[in-house]
Amino acid sequence: MSRSNLNEITLVDLPKGGAPTWALIYPNVYKVGMTNLGYHYVYAALKTRGVGAERLFFDSNCRSLEEDRHLGEFPIITASVSYEPDYVNLINILADGKISLHWRDRAHFNGPVIGIGGAVSYINPLLFSSLADFVCLGDGEVVIDHLVDSLRDYIIHQDRARLWEELSTSPYIYVPPLHDELILSDKDGINRKRGRIQDLSKSLGHSLWLTPEAAFGRTLLLELQRGCFRNCPYCVVPNNFGKARTRSVDDLISFLDNFKGLGDFNVGLVTPEAGDHPHLGQLLDAIMEAGKRVSFASLRIDALNEKVLEALAMGGKRSITIAPEAGSDALRMTIKKHFTNELILKKLAMAKEYGINSVKMYFMIGLPGESDEDIRAIAEMSQSIWDLLKIKLTLSIGIFVPKPGTPFSGEPFIGISEGRRRLNILHRSLRGFGKVITLRPVDFKGSLKEYVLSWYGLKEAESILNLAKNDDRGFLNLPVSRELTQEQLSRLYL
Ligand code: SF4
Repeated sequence: MSRSNLNEITLVDLPKGGAPTWALIYPNVYKVGMTNLGYHYVYAALKTRGVGAERLFFDSNCRSLEEDRHLGEFPIITASVSYEPDYVNLINILADGKISLHWRDRAHFNGPVIGIGGAVSYINPLLFSSLADFVCLGDGEVVIDHLVDSLRDYIIHQDRARLWEELSTSPYIYVPPLHDELILSDKDGINRKRGRIQDLSKSLGHSLWLTPEAAFGRTLLLELQRGCFRNCPYCVVPNNFGKARTRSVDDLISFLDNFKGLGDFNVGLVTPEAGDHPHLGQLLDAIMEAGKRVSFASLRIDALNEKVLEALAMGGKRSITIAPEAGSDALRMTIKKHFTNELILKKLAMAKEYGINSVKMYFMIGLPGESDEDIRAIAEMSQSIWDLLKIKLTLSIGIFVPKPGTPFSGEPFIGISEGRRRLNILHRSLRGFGKVITLRPVDFKGSLKEYVLSWYGLKEAESILNLAKNDDRGFLNLPVSRELTQEQLSRLYL
C-alpha cells in the first residue's frame, strides 16, 4: 500500500517526523480504519506532542504508511481495537511482524512496548491482559499526556518495571504485568476507572484525513456526541462510554466553514444517536447551506423528521438506514425502543415523499424473551412496508450478543445452531418477496467471535495468544465463564 495512491488530505497542520517512533495499528483494512474517528484523534494527539506516530493496517503488510518502516523497528506499538474480532487481526499482524506476543517474553529482551485502546478496551480490557504492557481505559484524551511522558522516560531508561509503575499511577491505565496478580489473588486496591472527557471541545472533533479510499468515500466525519443518556439494556454505550456529552453546534459549524473549500465531500455525523443532539436542525441547515451531502450511520426512527429528510434529499439520498431491532412492538418495548410498527410506517411514508425508495433495516435475533412469533413479525412488518409504500428493503440481521457492563449481560447467547433455526423461520416467512426484500447474510462466525472475546477473562486471554494464529476453531472453542470474567472486571475497578 503506497500513501501516494490514497489521495489523502490532512486537515490539520502537524509536525513532521518526531520521537519516539510509535506504531499506531488499526487492526482492520485501511478503508475501515479511516472511518474510525478515535484513530484519527490519537494520531493527531501524538503528532501534536512531537511523537513520531506512523500508521499500520491489516492490509499494509507490516509496514507503516508514512515511512514504510517495518513493524519490528518500532520501540512502541499501540493498537485501536474497535470491534472484538479485530483482536484476531491484531494478533496476526504482530505474529507476521515477528513480534513476541506475551508481555513477559518481550520484557526479557526489552522488546517493543505494546498498548491497547479503542472501544473494546472500554468493554473488556481483560482480553488484552497477556499481550499488552498497558491498556487505556476509556477516552484516550484523558491519558495521552501521561502516556507520552511515561514512554519517553522509558526510551531513556529502558527500564520496564519503572515504565509499568509509572503508567499505573494513572487510574485510567490498566497495567497487566502489575494488576493481574492482584486480580487473581482477590486483592482490592487496583482502583482503575474509565477516563471520560467531559468537555468535548478539548478533543479534535472532526476527521484528520479526507480520502476517497475510506469506506464512506471522501467524508468529513464530525463527532456530535459521546456517550448516551438513554439506557437500552443490550447496549454497551451508557455504562462503558458514559452519559451523553454533546459538542457545541458552533464548533461543528466552524469545522464545516474551515473545510468547505476542500472540494466535494460528504459530511458524516458520528454519534450514538444523531436525533439526540439539541441543535441537529441548525447543523443540518449549515450543511445544506455549504452544499454538502449528509449521512448518518443509522437513524433512530422517532428522530426522522422533515428537516433530516430535506437534508438527505438535498444530497440526492434515495436510501436511509434505520434500526427497528425487533419486529414486534412488544419485544421492542422490552429493549426500551419506544416506537411502534405504526410509527415506523408513518415515518417511512414521510420519507417516501422526500424521494427515499430503499431502506436498510437492522434487526437483532436472539433477544431475551424472543419467540418464533417475534421472528415472523419481522417479515410481516417488512411485507407491510412493501405492500403499502413500495419501498425496497434490505434486512440486516445480527445476533444479540450479551456484553459486559449492560443490563442484559447475564442473558443467554443463542449461538450458531439456534441462530440458524430462527433465521430459517425468517427466510420461510419472506418467501415470495425475494425481489423487493433482501435478506443480508448473517455473520454467525463473527457474532460468535464477538461473544467469546467479549467474555474471555485472564486465563483465556493467555490461551488465545497461542491458539488465535491460524486456528479459529480452537480459539472459539475455549469455554466462556461470564461469572468469572465479571468478577475479574469488578476487581479491576475496585
Ligand atoms: S442503543 Fe442507542 S439510544 Fe440506546 S443506549 Fe445505545 S446508543 Fe443510546
